Amino acid sequence: MNNIRLCMFVWGALLAQVASAASLLQPQSFPKTSADIGFIDRVVIQQEGYEPWEKEYDRNGNCISGCTYPGLTIQDDLELSRQRTENAWMQTQQYLRQQRLSSQQTPSGITAEQPKQSGNLSQAISNWVEKQNARRCTPVNSSVPVGQIMPFGTPLVGTPTITSKYGARTHPVTGNLSKHEGVDFSAVIGTDVFTPANGTVAAVWSDSTCGNGLRISHANGYETVYCHLNKVVVNKGDKVEAGCKVAETGNTGRTTGPHLHYGIKAGGDYIDPMNWINTKN
Ligand SMILES: [Zn+2]
Repeated sequence: MNNIRLCMFVWGALLAQVASAASLLQPQSFPKTSADIGFIDRVVIQQEGYEPWEKEYDRNGNCISGCTYPGLTIQDDLELSRQRTENAWMQTQQYLRQQRLSSQQTPSGITAEQPKQSGNLSQAISNWVEKQNARRCTPVNSSVPVGQIMPFGTPLVGTPTITSKYGARTHPVTGNLSKHEGVDFSAVIGTDVFTPANGTVAAVWSDSTCGNGLRISHANGYETVYCHLNKVVVNKGDKVEAGCKVAETGNTGRTTGPHLHYGIKAGGDYIDPMNWINTKN
């Protein structure tokens, strides 16, 4: 009984937070495309640690990815981030519980891909073989569980040193107060970078802030983002598996030295990666 009361209290508090977050976002107006953002806005966005190359808007002007929410103070933005992280973490735990339950009840293998009608069997098999062949990389980082679908652990081998955490900080280059949308790992140039989870390469790009960048989309609306790379060894659209090498660290873009910037997005917004990094699932 006490447990039930506690649960209801937690959900009530969560719903209240979501409602206040929604009201914070109501009166904002969003630029339609990146070309609509003026020079001053670009400078401000960059100084605040945002990534203008990540901004995406739908045809109605609604921000769908990497949103800036013009007008929000950094405190409000951090509070939103905290709520997003909490929500994402709870959903992840729920999802993992469901996965464990279903794996106990369902036999492993390609059962789910078997056709409803026997005439389609050969087609189903050739589709499956084609899907296997589409894999472009082999998992080589043994510290990442094979087939992991959520981004747990780190994208580097072992336990790399974190030199800057997620959240508010004085930017090491501009000296301004900024919001850091990920964590920085110290890494000498040329260190192998691995995807911690199965996914699809969503973007490979280069710009003055992130340098050589890579974004991978994973199950359940999660994405991982990698910056300042020396080189990227996968292409947009590639299927990648947990533990596959996807890039090498470098010192490109706006940095004070060689390191890997690593970000996690949930539902299009950056969240604090620390829960994911510190957890072995
Ligand atoms: Zn960083």
